[in-house]
Amino acid sequence: MQASDIATISHVIEQVQEAAFALKFAAGQSQEGIEAEYTSSLFDIMELYVDSDQAITSFRNAFRRVANDAFNATAEIGWTDSGNEPPVSEELQTWVNGEIETEIGNIDSLFADLRELRKTGTDDEQNAFIANKAEGYAGALIGIYNYAKMSAKPEQDGEWEFGDTDHCDTCADLNGQVHPLNWFVDNGYIPQQRGSEALDCGGWNCQCVIRDPKTKEQLIP
Ligand SMILES: [Zn+2]
Repeated sequence: MQASDIATISHVIEQVQEAAFALKFAAGQSQEGIEAEYTSSLFDIMELYVDSDQAITSFRNAFRRVANDAFNATAEIGWTDSGNEPPVSEELQTWVNGEIETEIGNIDSLFADLRELRKTGTDDEQNAFIANKAEGYAGALIGIYNYAKMSAKPEQDGEWEFGDTDHCDTCADLNGQVHPLNWFVDNGYIPQQRGSEALDCGGWNCQCVIRDPKTKEQLIP
């Protein structure tokens, strides 16, 4: 290996680390703020990978670290937006850890796809794929936020209200129902949770919200 190769490698690794650490979760940051930063960090990491000729490892590790941070920060924001002090409850932390593990479990196959794309894809194809994946991965955060926010106020009554999208049977059936928030959580009914197993629609296009049944104030998200 030549000195110039080593310089290139360490430069790329530096950039990956920067992209990962660009994600700084200052106190008081909003759910949307984190989602936007997470999206661009994931985009940068994947793009740096396909633009390089380096092995997957450091990129995959950066991706994992960012996912871990974004999930934890989002859960904490949900928890505090419901009026609680950090840290989140042990129960919630256990659930978040499980979600992180599942998400990280998907990363290997993502990078296998990226490796193929790096060999054969045009710049446009690579960009479109990466943008789509970054958005898809970041879409998980709203479910984390809603779950955390609901778990933080279990006794609070909420009324499900469906959004402007076409409604699956589950969401249509939930529309107008009033229950304590922990009833929704216990049944897996988390509004807008992408990949939901409890909602027929899988939550992919869900715009449902939960309101206070009396004041109609939006509680979730
Ligand atoms: Zn819905």
